[in-house]
Order: sequence, then structure tokens, then C-alpha cells
Amino acid sequence: MQMDYINRIFNLDGKKAIVTGGNSGIGMGIATSLASLGADVAILGRDQATLDEVEAKLRGLGTNSKAYRVDVSSKQEIDVFFDQYYKENGMKLDILVSNAGISVGKRALDTTEEEVDRLFNTNYKGALFCCQRAAEAMKEQMSGNIIIVTSVNALYPLPPQSTYTSTKSALEVLMQCLAVDLAKYGIRVNTLAPGAVKTNLGRDMPPRPAPPDPPPDADGNRRPRIPLGRVGLPEDMGDAVACLVSDAFRYMTGSTVLVDGGLKLRNV
Ligand code: NAD
Repeated sequence: MQMDYINRIFNLDGKKAIVTGGNSGIGMGIATSLASLGADVAILGRDQATLDEVEAKLRGLGTNSKAYRVDVSSKQEIDVFFDQYYKENGMKLDILVSNAGISVGKRALDTTEEEVDRLFNTNYKGALFCCQRAAEAMKEQMSGNIIIVTSVNALYPLPPQSTYTSTKSALEVLMQCLAVDLAKYGIRVNTLAPGAVKTNLGRDMPPRPAPPDPPPDADGNRRPRIPLGRVGLPEDMGDAVACLVSDAFRYMTGSTVLVDGGLKLRNV
């Protein structure tokens, strides 16, 4: 086995990463994968107890990771964080994963102004202003990787989560605009679109009936709704992001990477 080759492609020793919402679910899975490969990861979130817990876990992997309490729906809080981060680390940042997100289970006709503001402020505005501030250091060093976490729902309408889906579609467009603008600085920008992943998201949403499994195939075999036969786990997303920010994907920017166990094909 050519360990030198694997190290050259995947090793993140000495790299600096920021993961928003890194204190739970998919964000924690991503932060753990990046730290396992050697990156120092700053995790941003609102809940101090889980921030402390995940910071300890990432430090236990031998990294100089750190938790910051930040509400990404506030541009002012984002600015205060980045000012502090650059003061502590110099103008060095290799990876931004904009992952923090919230959802509301409402159809378009039932959605309130407060819900639209809350979802766009966190999901869209939070991502945009984190990308802006992250790009400052990345432009100076002429390299960097930005991953925005969207959703399989960004790729087709999901009427019972109308506003959530709209924020994720908007992020797909934002990713493509940033990819064009930042390419000349050697900065790659892509999205990770997860399928159904076992996390706290949606825990507070009203239950709704599961969509029916697809019909049997021509031989009468029944197929599960998720073709790979199970719900995704945060570490499935984490390892995918670790690959996307690695040199294995050095020629990819402006792409949406669907990691959904085949869920998008469920009606095929
Ligand atoms: P989660 O609730 O476990 O994690 C969301 C994280 O975002 C939490 O750490 C939370 O503290 C943080 N967050 C929310 N609002 C914030 C704010 N204003 N400021 C700072 N942090 C904030 O849920 P998750 O499933 O891990 O979600 C992570 C991302 O993955 C979201 O963007 C979500 O839309 C996306 N996603 C999830 C699924 C899924 O099935 N779980 C599917 C597709 C996409």
C-alpha cells in the first residue's frame, strides 16, 4: 500500500477548519472526520454544553480544536467571531463548512413571515456571511475549500417543507456564484447535499406519514425507500466532506455532491 500517496492526498495535519453547527448531528460528524485527519477545527454553535462536549472530543483526537458560541443568523456575531478567530490564528483558514441549519415543516400557503425570516437568516444569510469572512484569509493565501451543506431537497421541491427547501435551493445558486468568483484565488466551493440523516433536525416537526415504498420490480422483489437500505449517519457525511476537501478532488468546484443512499431515485 502506498501510504505516502494516501498521506499526500488526505492528510490534514496543520490545516485550519471552521464548521458551523459543529456541535451536533452532521456538523459534529464532519468536525470529527476533519479532526481525525489532523485538522484543527473551530466549531460554532449556540448550545454551550454540546460545544464543550464536542470540543473535548476533538481535542482528544490530538488537535488544537476550539468551540465558539456564535449565532450565525446574526452578521454582527459572525463578524465578532471571525475577528477573534483571525486574531488567534493569523489570516489562515483552509476549510469552511457552512452546515448550521434549521427547518420548519410547513407548506407554502401556511408559512408565516417570522418563519421565512428565521429560516433565511440562519440557513442562507448565515452561510453567505461566513463565506464572505472565510474568503478573506483564503484569498490572501490563494487556496481554500468551502463546503455548504444543502439537502437532497434542494434538488426537487418538497412541498411540506417549502421554506426550508427554498433556502437550500438558494444556497445551491450561492455556491455556484461563489465558485465562479473565487476560482481565480484557488478556492474551491461545492455543496454537500445529504439525504435522510439520523440527527436532531426535524425532531420538533409534526409527524407526517412516511411515503410509500416503491412498487416491486419486474421480478416481484420489494425495494426499500432508500435504495441503500438504511438512513444516513453523521459520520457518512463527515467522511464524504473529508474526501471533498482533500486533494483527490482538487479539480472540482461548483458541484453538488449528493450523499443520500440513492433516496433521490426512490420514485424511479
Ligand atoms: P442538527 O439540529 O443536529 O444540527 C444543526 C446544527 O446547527 C446544530 O448544531 C445547531 O446548534 C446549529 N445551528 C442552528 N441554528 C444556528 C444558529 N443560528 N447559529 C449557530 N448554529 C446554529 O441537524 P443536522 O441534521 O445535523 O443539520 C445540519 C445540516 O444538515 C443542516 O443545514 C440541515 O439542513 C442539513 N441536512 C440535514 C438532513 C437530515 O436528514 N438530518 C438532511 C439534509 C440536510
